[in-house]
Amino acid sequence: MVFLHHNHFLLSILFRYTGIMSEMCYRCFKPKSNCLCPYIKEADTGVKFIILMHPKEAFHQRTGTGRITALSLKESEIIIGVDFTQDTKVNALLSDPSYFPVLLYPGVDAYTADSPSLKIELGTRKLLVFVVDGTWPLAAKMVRLSKNLQKLPKLSFTKGYVSNYTFKREPEPSCLSTIESCYYLVKELQEAGIAKTADVSSMPLVFSKLVEHQMESDTESRAVEGNGPQHRVTK
Ligand SMILES: [Zn+2]
Repeated sequence: MVFLHHNHFLLSILFRYTGIMSEMCYRCFKPKSNCLCPYIKEADTGVKFIILMHPKEAFHQRTGTGRITALSLKESEIIIGVDFTQDTKVNALLSDPSYFPVLLYPGVDAYTADSPSLKIELGTRKLLVFVVDGTWPLAAKMVRLSKNLQKLPKLSFTKGYVSNYTFKREPEPSCLSTIESCYYLVKELQEAGIAKTADVSSMPLVFSKLVEHQMESDTESRAVEGNGPQHRVTK
């Protein structure tokens, strides 16, 4: 009796899970009803981006922007992991002499797009930007564990930016989503003459659509769940 009850419970989870999966767009990883693909336009910036995605982000993409960032930037790839020290793909890229690899990360010693030394170091090589996709504590952990990424020169922003909307529980409102970070970075690299003048205007548009969908779904869940205060837990 206990067994049957348990089995039924597992089956109900399975049906719920497969039901959700079938309604998902496999390109942008959003529900089909809120598919962002029509708004995504791939831009050829001449910069290679590697989105390092924490497995939690990869499989809980409710509010994540790593995938839509990768779809928005030509020559970008997603690599999933936590500690990239032994990652074959990451290490192959790091040892490729045609790239100048940097980590998009704050630091007093970080390059900014307008640093004259960045252009000198870059020379004729292609800029390769590693972007850690995840909430701030997860991103910090990934960098702390990945010895190869720690050694990289850092690249940060010339200006200060504030996220247009923070639906994740970030410690500060200034924490940008991955798509916002990459958009602002490309704009600065374009101004500095490092990135090609490709049109990246779809990136903030896609993000605003995601925020819009998120707010609608939060309003709907509030209506369904009653009048009590919402303690949204995304992580
Ligand atoms: Zn889609």
